[in-house]
Amino acid sequence: MPHALDIARRNPNAPALDEVAIEKAAELELAPGAQAGQPSLVGLTREELKARLLEAGVPEREAKMRVAQIWHWIYFRGARDFAAMTNVSKHLRALLAEHYTLARPEVVSEQVSKDGTRKWLVRMPSTGPYDKGAEIECVYIPESDRGTLCVSSQVGCTLTCSFCHTGTQKLVRNLTSAEIVAQLVVARDRLGDWPDASPPEGAFVPSDGGRFVTNIVFMGMGEPLYNTDNVVAAIGVLADNEGLGLSRRRITVSTSGVVPQIGRLGEEAHSALAISLHAVRDDLRNTLVPINKKYPIAALMQACRDYPGLSNARRITFEYVMLDGVNDSDADARALVKLLQGIPAKINLIPFNPWPGSKYECSSWERIERFSEIVYRAGYASPVRTPRGRDILAACGQLKSETEKLRARARMMLESGIGAEGVYAAAAAEAGD
Ligand code: SAH
Ligand code: SF4
Repeated sequence: MPHALDIARRNPNAPALDEVAIEKAAELELAPGAQAGQPSLVGLTREELKARLLEAGVPEREAKMRVAQIWHWIYFRGARDFAAMTNVSKHLRALLAEHYTLARPEVVSEQVSKDGTRKWLVRMPSTGPYDKGAEIECVYIPESDRGTLCVSSQVGCTLTCSFCHTGTQKLVRNLTSAEIVAQLVVARDRLGDWPDASPPEGAFVPSDGGRFVTNIVFMGMGEPLYNTDNVVAAIGVLADNEGLGLSRRRITVSTSGVVPQIGRLGEEAHSALAISLHAVRDDLRNTLVPINKKYPIAALMQACRDYPGLSNARRITFEYVMLDGVNDSDADARALVKLLQGIPAKINLIPFNPWPGSKYECSSWERIERFSEIVYRAGYASPVRTPRGRDILAACGQLKSETEKLRARARMMLESGIGAEGVYAAAAAEAGD
């Protein structure tokens, strides 16, 4: 299947490529359950869990009750071993252990910032003989009264926003819903955020007596609305009251502007929405966020106005990265305010986080203040998002895993006819990232 190897034409010497390089490649789904070895039940939806139980021989008439029991152990208690499931019969525990595990994705490394931010490199189970497992990053940002987990929705990103490090990653695949959910499970393991567990010594976690992870933002690697099915399914598990129990209002999906999927997200996931706007004119946004060529600003704004559940209590967050001399003038600030007129909105000004080889600089502090002042006077709170975890490269747009090494392996898979199983190779001619 050599045609499946979609080579991104990003060679700087090739003709007029910048104009067409909105995406490096189209997306592929990972075959469900395509894991090596005994599959884990962690991360599954109720329907998937039921299907696994039936496959193992649990009678249909018992299935619903068994799902409820096991759901509670996995997602409320954080059980790591079937033996802990004391209200489940010994026979069933043995049956489950014979077929399945409660394994989590492996935490390859943990970095803790001076400010308490934690970044985990997480390796997903292998999807086939040549895949040692995709690696993604997720970040935990503690504050005194909340803890935010920034999760990834894809390995890498097919889009090529010019200021984003993740966008330079060559290998991309969608995460399954289970792999998305597992990021919270791993975070709760590491933070001791289960009943009867306690946090690691000296860890910075919220001190208000509540859970350590209270909010989820889909602002890690990937474009969530290129993986909407899995993101919606994952949010269903994250927000399930009998399990992980997050509030849907505290789950925010950030998109670069995949307009046709925005309404669906609101209808099916009822989550909060964030838009990576970053520019107020199409010509500039085309270069910063190239998906704008497909879905220009006017269409994006209409999708925002139509977002299900939108109200003053449930505003859309507009993210705006401050790039020196590019999008940070007074006129830009005024145009931003005008553009958002009539949309219940919050504006997040994000200082640009440079990465090795990036071609932009962050606006000066005075410029950011002036920009923020104009936005504030127009009636918007415009918190400047303090970059967290800078010392461990955990800030927005800096996440980029080791998975590129998989590129060679993906090619091998394709050449040997094994099939990519959702793994893409997009070879970029340029080096240096
Ligand atoms: N793909 C989605 C979500 C992940 S990116 C999206 O684009 O919305 C999360 C946020 O980080 C986005 O607003 C993105 O534009 C921003 N971002 C990316 N690179 C950045 C950088 N180098 N500095 C600051 N913010 C960045
Ligand atoms: Fe992808 Fe978002 Fe980065 Fe753009 S900003 S390349 S959509 S992760």
